[in-house]
Amino acid sequence: MPTPEGEFVHIREVGPRDGFQNEPEIIPTVDKVRLVEMLARTGLRRLEVTSFVRADVIPQLADGAEVLRRADIPDDVSVTVLIPNERGLENALELRDRFDEVNLFLSASETHNRKNVNRSIEESLVGLERVVTRARGEGLRCEGVISVAFGCPYEGDVPRERVFAIARRLVDAGCEEIAFGDTTGMANPHQVREFFTDAELDVQLTAHFHNTRGQGLANVVAALAAGVRSFESSFGELGGCPVPRGATGNIASEDLVSMLHEMGYETGIDLERLIACAREAQRVMGRPLGSHVLTAGPVDWRR
Ligand code: ZN
Repeated sequence: MPTPEGEFVHIREVGPRDGFQNEPEIIPTVDKVRLVEMLARTGLRRLEVTSFVRADVIPQLADGAEVLRRADIPDDVSVTVLIPNERGLENALELRDRFDEVNLFLSASETHNRKNVNRSIEESLVGLERVVTRARGEGLRCEGVISVAFGCPYEGDVPRERVFAIARRLVDAGCEEIAFGDTTGMANPHQVREFFTDAELDVQLTAHFHNTRGQGLANVVAALAAGVRSFESSFGELGGCPVPRGATGNIASEDLVSMLHEMGYETGIDLERLIACAREAQRVMGRPLGSHVLTAGPVDWRR
């Protein structure tokens, strides 16, 4: 691969949503707000702050509106909230001035989508098309996230063409960004490179990798080779998925940023500040978190 000196890579931090929602112990609102405010001062430009799913579905994020209302976030940070359906959008719009983007999701496999939202893919798409129309009418940027895009724990292989067809529907509806989630860590680097090389979609393409089987950063390198310049990650390697049980989470933002900087890419992110966020999360959670750079520190031999 050619040296990418100075080339910019976008990172959306998803820990306060994707990460927190998988924590078994309820995190106090005040701690969530503090961590969000710390993250918003690392140089990150995109931050997923919470979700507007029903409180009985994800009790951990029941205080989402409160976090969004209270967190002091600089104007140059684009705030994303995850919206499950039209009802969720209605609730979020009560705080319209507190966020810039909505993240809408469905799964690439029928079984995963039914288990997750109790709808067929077609039913989800029809609902999301309405949500996108409404959100764009409110001036919100829309990101569509397709889960289990690289393999499904229930169905196994997910045909690429099916994933692209879903993506095209979301683009046609008005999504300006499509993220492809390796929700249970089934992707491998060869598959990722082929996938993104074949993805002919005229919007920003984002890769959302999990480190479930230790291949998260290898998959990032493969996506970079295929031209992807936008990633989602979670500080402290927070997150995960109930299937498979006990699986580790998203790739760690500090591991991703460290690797990108060492490779010569720019992210705009201050790695030391990001590590401080992960360290604080570790203190709040009361257990060691999985990120490597949090343990080893940044590469600092030059000093
Ligand atoms: Zn994730």
